[in-house]
Amino acid sequence: MVIAVLAVQGSFFEHEQILEKLGVEYFEIRRKADLDKHFDGLILPGGESTTMGKLLKELDIFDTLQKKIADGLPVYGTCAGMILLANNLSNDKNVYFGTMDITVKRNAYGRQLGSFETVSDVKGIGEVPMVFIRAPYIESVGEGVDVLATVNGNIVAARQDNQLATSFHPELTDDTSVHQYFLDMIK
Ligand code: GLN
Repeated sequence: MVIAVLAVQGSFFEHEQILEKLGVEYFEIRRKADLDKHFDGLILPGGESTTMGKLLKELDIFDTLQKKIADGLPVYGTCAGMILLANNLSNDKNVYFGTMDITVKRNAYGRQLGSFETVSDVKGIGEVPMVFIRAPYIESVGEGVDVLATVNGNIVAARQDNQLATSFHPELTDDTSVHQYFLDMIK
């Protein structure tokens, strides 16, 4: 199994550290030629969704990735990566891949409470430490979407078939369980 990590901006290195820990082969997508390599799953890291969206288009990798995801490529988006997957942003006119039937609010916790940590249950996994950084949350989901976790009544993890999204950053903790869940989605 080979995982591609989108590495144009954001916390891709931390995701790679988790994959190292799990002994999984991976490579970085930085330019169009990287898309020629074979990969079984894709990680979209946290960072700045606006910047990532812009770079994806400038580097001419946006359309190919969008099609692969729409065709069933397993994908895991954290934070900004979740924003890239959403088909609706409640407080932003942009839509990026738009492959996941979720409405996401960017910077949903406001400036003061933008970054915090907690531990909460994720369906199918158990207790997971959660780090939120200027995090979005999911305001509503479509019919085919399974809500996996809520914190203070807000949806912070969800899955729609081949697509997994979390508001929080498991790659910034020692916990590998969410990544393991993603790898199990691929098998
Ligand atoms: N607030 C960022 C955005 O809208 C996401 C923050 C993050 O990925 N840590 O892109």
